[in-house]
Amino acid sequence: VLFGVFTLMLLAACQSSNKPKNDMDSRVEELLAQMTLEEKVGQMNQYTGFFDVTGPAPSEGDAKNKYNHIKSGLVGSMLNVRGVAEVRKMQQLAVDSSRLGIPMIFGFDVIHGHKTLSPIPLAESASWDLEAIEKSARIAAVEAAAEGLNWTFAPMVDISRDPRWGRVMEGAGEDTYLGSRIAVARVNGFQGDDLSAENTIAACAKHFAAYGFVEGGRDYNTVDVSSSTLYNVILPPFKAAVEEANVRTFMNAFNIVNGVPSTANNFLLRDILKGKWGFDGFVISDWSSGAEMMAHGYAKDLEHVAELAAKAGSDMDMESYSFVKHLASLVKSGKVQESVVDDAVRRILRVKFELGLFDDPYKYCNEEREKEMIYHPDHMAAALEMAKKSIVLLKNENQTLPLSKSQKKIAVIGDLADDKDSPLGNWRMAGEDNTAVSVLEGLQKYNADVTFAQGVKLVTGPTAFAVELEVNTTDKTGIKEAVRLAKKSDVVVMVLGEHGLHSGEGRSRSDLGLPGLQQEMLEEVYKVNQNIVLVLMNGRPLTINWADEHVPAIIEAWQLGTQSGNAIAEVLFGDYNPSGKLPMTFPKNVAHIPVYYNQFNTGRPEREGGALFWPHYMEESHKPLYSFGYGLSYSSFSYSNLKVNVAGPEKVEVSVTVINDSDVDGEEVVQLYIHDKVASIVRPVKELKGFDKVLIKAGEKADVNFILTDKELGFYNGAGEFLFEPGEFDVMVGTSSDKGLKTSFEL
Ligand code: BGC
Repeated sequence: VLFGVFTLMLLAACQSSNKPKNDMDSRVEELLAQMTLEEKVGQMNQYTGFFDVTGPAPSEGDAKNKYNHIKSGLVGSMLNVRGVAEVRKMQQLAVDSSRLGIPMIFGFDVIHGHKTLSPIPLAESASWDLEAIEKSARIAAVEAAAEGLNWTFAPMVDISRDPRWGRVMEGAGEDTYLGSRIAVARVNGFQGDDLSAENTIAACAKHFAAYGFVEGGRDYNTVDVSSSTLYNVILPPFKAAVEEANVRTFMNAFNIVNGVPSTANNFLLRDILKGKWGFDGFVISDWSSGAEMMAHGYAKDLEHVAELAAKAGSDMDMESYSFVKHLASLVKSGKVQESVVDDAVRRILRVKFELGLFDDPYKYCNEEREKEMIYHPDHMAAALEMAKKSIVLLKNENQTLPLSKSQKKIAVIGDLADDKDSPLGNWRMAGEDNTAVSVLEGLQKYNADVTFAQGVKLVTGPTAFAVELEVNTTDKTGIKEAVRLAKKSDVVVMVLGEHGLHSGEGRSRSDLGLPGLQQEMLEEVYKVNQNIVLVLMNGRPLTINWADEHVPAIIEAWQLGTQSGNAIAEVLFGDYNPSGKLPMTFPKNVAHIPVYYNQFNTGRPEREGGALFWPHYMEESHKPLYSFGYGLSYSSFSYSNLKVNVAGPEKVEVSVTVINDSDVDGEEVVQLYIHDKVASIVRPVKELKGFDKVLIKAGEKADVNFILTDKELGFYNGAGEFLFEPGEFDVMVGTSSDKGLKTSFEL
């Protein structure tokens, strides 16, 4: 013990947060030189929280082993332990009992807020507001760090074009450019300017790579993508996280890429990430993704898992025990070189040094800060702002919205309307149940003449992170009650959509309509009262054609976190003018998936009617219901004056004038798309390459400027080489991916 404490003091003495990097490296080397092979491998091992640390030590089984491993310096990190008291106790085990007293790093899924919950990541992405998104991650970091944590398994930067995949709720949607900008904002938010500060935490870009392309949208399924898609669509947000935000950790994915599980994918980890991109942080496996390589048919046993994963560049194993059980003997038998282990341990220790854990292993364990920061009023205020910014106005016929504050007889209908849990969304591991402001509560604060009918129940049976949901498809009793209320009301606010656990990990859906009996209830209510405002609450795009055809006003309110109902009420009553834009296409029919805006031209271009031979369906148009980038406002904006100036061989200036020709101040997300007309790799019909969110006062205008360089105009070929090919480009600037002014230029 004494030796451990002494070593720690020695290390602390020579550490200071702003010493040059090579100094930190020499401290890492010094420590590494003192470590036994077993201790090194221990740093590469992560366990999940396993017992109540505040109680007596576990006396048997897995918990006892883990406990002893921590004490012997065989555990580098814990996940799922939180709260200052627990983290402190657990850290004490490592620091006081292990020979070298190396502190552990505490990881947790801090995905959208920590205790104060912000909107789910997909919703936040609909704000297209990078500053607000960064702030939201910053606040999450402050609260998580105040609970003893120093590492989040976020952001998820997987691009996905498949809304059947439940984890789209956790990402930034379908677009690589938007996704890259948001990845950088989130990493910056979590990590702040100084990682050694007590209120910043290490971020983790996950899941590397291509997890968002699981076939059929079925979570954990096979991935099979072209190298052109990999380089141009999937990898850029990861690359941006490394090169523009210095993300400190990466997480492997469960899936294969090119036939090789990501966890042992030499090409991804060694060639691309640590090679080409020069990443100097560390890579953690996903939950037991090491051991899963046996089921994939890639590793024959757990020893083989350890060998393959370590050699390929996975530095830390989450919960599959492969390293802790086998890596030391693999090194001793010469199957794995010790330099592989050293490289991994260096990376892990470096991040621990950067976090300042050697300076003070308990720096994140401050009870007073914990009390002060959790649910801090500033955090609650920011969560409200973020929630409002995330809302997308999908339809507003005859100015149904905003509602007048003195509106009489408002019926609020839907099981989700008084649900205080679903708005918190999935992946809110520290979030407390039923802590959201419900839509009903939010509306009642504005207007006393609000009455409520629950209507049909959405879910029956237990709801939990790892339990399959049972949706009510039989009990229609609530419909009558809803119809009765709608009949005697002037306006009906229907809150419909998905339960909070309908999306997230393992939550794939083959039907994207309103689950259960909600559609039937909507149609029954419509028969007696057509003055409906539909508030959608969901974690992914839905197919809502009927509603779009019939209901006069629709807002997409996703799952907006703690402040959900307050944000929705402000938008419905016009105190906030919605400005969100969809980060993901809404398809008309689940059979059309994948539907995304940046497809390729084919050899047989679209021609409605007439000839048969072009990519279409016999029954209906495959056009989306709402395109990527779409979203309305209470203001109306018109675009004019699109100008392009070729300022150099690789520099193009684009400008446009946007006029707010309404009598309401509003924000517009001005979007720029390009199309490279002829290239050595066929380029998409459109690609987002710039956007700017501008506030334009009623009756005023804004000049918006963009600069395109070879970085935006170039692309990767199938070999991963970045090419810039001069030639002719189309450019479109507008209000969504399918509406804008167009022109062309030549370089
Ligand atoms: C998920 C990861 C998550 C990890 C730890 C896995 O099942 O895929 O995204 O970070 O669990 O909770």
